[in-house]
Amino acid sequence: MCKHILNAQASIRAPCCRKWFDCAECHAEVSDHPLARTTEMAFMCKKCRKAFRKDMSTYEESDEFCPHCDNHYVIDAKTPNAMLTVESEDTRVDNRAIKDERIAADGKIDTSELDEWLTQLDGAPGPEPGAEARQ
Ligand SMILES: [Zn+2]
Ligand SMILES: [Zn+2]
Ligand SMILES: [Zn+2]
Repeated sequence: MCKHILNAQASIRAPCCRKWFDCAECHAEVSDHPLARTTEMAFMCKKCRKAFRKDMSTYEESDEFCPHCDNHYVIDAKTPNAMLTVESEDTRVDNRAIKDERIAADGKIDTSELDEWLTQLDGAPGPEPGAEARQ
C-alpha cells in the first residue's frame, strides 16, 4: 500500500514509464525521471480492480467515480504530512494538534499514532488492518 496517501482508492499509470503507482511520490521514489503529465490519465480502481481512462482537461465531478463500480476514488488524500500542515484549515485536527504534545516543536511526530488519529477523526477503520489489533 502507498505510504504517502493512506486512503488511496485508485492507482495511476505513469504515462512516462507505463507502470502503476498509487501516487506521484511513489513514482518519484523508484524512478530516475519526473512523472510526465498528460491530459488523458489511466487509472485502476482498487475496489473492482478494473482500469479506466479519464480526460483530465474535461474533468468533472462525475468523473470522480469509477465507471465500473461507482467507487468514489477521488477523495481528500490522507497523508502523514497533511496532518502537520492542515492545522489552520481543519479545526477538528487543529484542536487536537495544538493540545497534543506528541507533536514536538520541530514538527516531528510519532507516526505510529497517525493511523489512530485518522480512525478517530473519521470514525472509520484505519488504512492498515493491524491498526485496531494493537489496542
Ligand atoms: Zn515514469
Ligand atoms: Zn505514494
Ligand atoms: Zn471500480
